[in-house]
Amino acid sequence: MEVADWKKFLNVDLGGKKMNPKEFAEKISFDPEDLPEQIKSYMEEVLGSNREEFLKDYLNDDIIHVTEAVGCLRKAFIVRYLIKKGVEFSEKNWAIFRGKLWDRILSPLFENNQKPIMIAVRDEYGTFFIKGVYDAVVDDVVIDFKTVGSHQLSQLPKEHHVRQIYTYAVAMNKKPVLIYISNKSPAIVHLYHPERLEAAKKIYEETIERAKKLHRALKGNRVPEKERSGLCNYCPFAEFCDLIRTTKDIDSLMPTFERLFGGGGQ
Ligand code: SF4
Repeated sequence: MEVADWKKFLNVDLGGKKMNPKEFAEKISFDPEDLPEQIKSYMEEVLGSNREEFLKDYLNDDIIHVTEAVGCLRKAFIVRYLIKKGVEFSEKNWAIFRGKLWDRILSPLFENNQKPIMIAVRDEYGTFFIKGVYDAVVDDVVIDFKTVGSHQLSQLPKEHHVRQIYTYAVAMNKKPVLIYISNKSPAIVHLYHPERLEAAKKIYEETIERAKKLHRALKGNRVPEKERSGLCNYCPFAEFCDLIRTTKDIDSLMPTFERLFGGGGQ
């Protein structure tokens, strides 16, 4: 299948109303308040019915998500710590839920979609699992959808996205493809190059090592070190990062985090 063919799948059905790719892309907003009612109600329905499912893995130290392993381990640790302490990330934290929502809208357009991949790994704490959920598989290709601001189109593909899709591709023995949906126009990035196979295997091994690092941090209740990168620009903990050395520091910031990320007032 040619990459261009996939565009025809981007005919999204929201609550019985079809949207063409251009209309859909134009309606993607990076502020939840600006979303049309049709998308907002869909979001509430999807997030409401999947909240428990969404949180379940984050309470289990023996399941590490691929997305966590390829991103900042410190951020992943703090998110899990807050969830364990009962902070309920609310829908107003659009940045946290946005990717999940579009995944759930777009991947049902493909017959083979949203299935988990589990990679068993051992470390000194025993066996744990690295979990990924692919968005779609078409023939011998595994696809992941990503949303991106139009101002970021020149910076694609993003490194952590490449790491994620390469990890899936090696684990599943498929070819990797990322499809970026921007709020200007759908942008498709095709990542499969046979000569990159060795690079993909190396990235896969690195993901395993990073997952072990996060697993050890969670089991030992130790906050991972800072990993300064472009991801810090979008990190909800950026302004607190320098203040956090141990979980005690997170505890002392808890009222602030509750107010910022939970359902509490502004
Ligand atoms: S600010 Fe940067 S280093 Fe700190 S938790 Fe966020 S992504 Fe990680």
